[in-house]
Amino acid sequence: MADPILIGGEWKPGRGPDMVSIYPADGSENGVVAGADAADVDEAVAKGRAAMADPAWRDMKPHERGGLLMGVSRLISERHEELARLQMRDNGKPIGETRALVASAAGTFRYYGAVAETMEDEITPSRGPYVSMSIYDPIGVVAAITPWNSPVASDAQKLAPALAAGCAVILKPAGVTPLVALELGRICEAAGIPPGIVSVLPGPGSVIGDALVTHPDIARVAFTGGTEVGRRIARQAADKLMPVSLELGGKSPTVVFADAKIDHAVNGVIFGIFSSSGESCIAGSRLFVQRGILDEFTAALVAKTEALRIGDPADERTQMGPLVSMAHRDGIERYVALGRAEGGEVLTGGARPEGSGFDYEKGSFYRPTIFAGLPNDARMVQEEIFGPVLAILPFDDEDDLVAQANDTVFGLACGLWTEDYRRAWRLARRIDAGTVWINTYKMFSIATPFGGLKESGTGREKGRQGIRQYQEQKALYWGTNETPIGWAD
Ligand code: NAP
Repeated sequence: MADPILIGGEWKPGRGPDMVSIYPADGSENGVVAGADAADVDEAVAKGRAAMADPAWRDMKPHERGGLLMGVSRLISERHEELARLQMRDNGKPIGETRALVASAAGTFRYYGAVAETMEDEITPSRGPYVSMSIYDPIGVVAAITPWNSPVASDAQKLAPALAAGCAVILKPAGVTPLVALELGRICEAAGIPPGIVSVLPGPGSVIGDALVTHPDIARVAFTGGTEVGRRIARQAADKLMPVSLELGGKSPTVVFADAKIDHAVNGVIFGIFSSSGESCIAGSRLFVQRGILDEFTAALVAKTEALRIGDPADERTQMGPLVSMAHRDGIERYVALGRAEGGEVLTGGARPEGSGFDYEKGSFYRPTIFAGLPNDARMVQEEIFGPVLAILPFDDEDDLVAQANDTVFGLACGLWTEDYRRAWRLARRIDAGTVWINTYKMFSIATPFGGLKESGTGREKGRQGIRQYQEQKALYWGTNETPIGWAD
């Protein structure tokens, strides 16, 4: 019997096909949930609208809403280990990583609890006999559509600011990872968020995602996922004149100058591409190394990559678990074959792991893979692989580097490794990336806005302003005239 889902305040079976969650480390079944269909979307949206109009939510003071979000944060923290294990089983990430993701989700709710309580309306300079204000109202029922790679964190990144803003939210998790989103729904309910304000509708993106985006009463879509789906959503949103935020794909450059601290750069590059098995939008998948240190740096990188521990996600020492599914691994293997066909040389990896440490046969494992000898315009170098595959390319000087690094449709992130802070400052401005890390990589603060340039997306999440994308700004003018307006006399 499939587990129920959260539709407009009620836990009940969806009307769509069941969804199965598989543990990618060994192919065992984690559970089956009842998928939603378009009729469930209609019901959740209608109940979300009704819940938003109910004074219990509509008239709730911002500090009270903030208090509820703090409660969600506390409940996530209390269930930290359980959620981390659930997330691990849903997508195969190592337990150390999923613990960090759950902590991040708790921090996100705590942060937006504080934001809800402290955001202010504005009194604007008046130009006549009135007091003018800019105030913010919830935009309406919003849809949050999320991918499978870090569900607990990306769900929280949408749910928390939308609830802080006073919206109702319909969360659609990725088909392969429905479990954590449903638990977040339970936690929101337990924390006292009124029924109907949060719905969680697992189901195929082509049905549920599509029904949400095109629904006339969905006022905004916050989407994280691939660029092609994002582009489609942007087109559909244009028809409705609906705002969307799109957090999309990447092919981010990491750059190592000859003056970098080599041991820091080696560790940073490896972490940047191979943590999360490369299933990360910000993976540093194109590595540019200054020509003078290319051989030395490559040798150090390959040696350390070969020592990475791949295997059981539940083992505290594991650095790389399986890929999310066999189908996803098939896609990565096609890209590795393409890289070889394009003339690239595989320096390490390029195969499934073998050995006695773990039963790799049952899971969708793949070795960390490093390519050399490909030009920047090779397809393997340009297209997002979303897996543990790195391409190394040489560069000569800053202008050559900028030309190559920016020669991509994406603009999500960049890592710079250099001890010359003036150069880092210059390049951080010249490289097309929404986030630039200097002598570090994949560091995040919920207080710092995040998003992409070019085909990596539009809009920003996180930060205090993150609440504003779920609100409409409204102008109020309070007349202070002592006498009637003269024009009509
Ligand atoms: P995806 O295929 O684009 O799916 C993302 C979400 O969209 C899933 O929930 C999916 O549902 C849904 N969806 C699919 N078709 C849809 C449609 N026609 N209308 C509305 N929704 C639809 O991406 P993914 O494979 O899950 O995730 C990997 C991608 O996400 C990569 O490109 C990665 O770079 C990107 N990503 C970006 C960020 C960022 O912050 N920039 C962060 C993480 C990941 P189904 O699963 O049911 O198909």
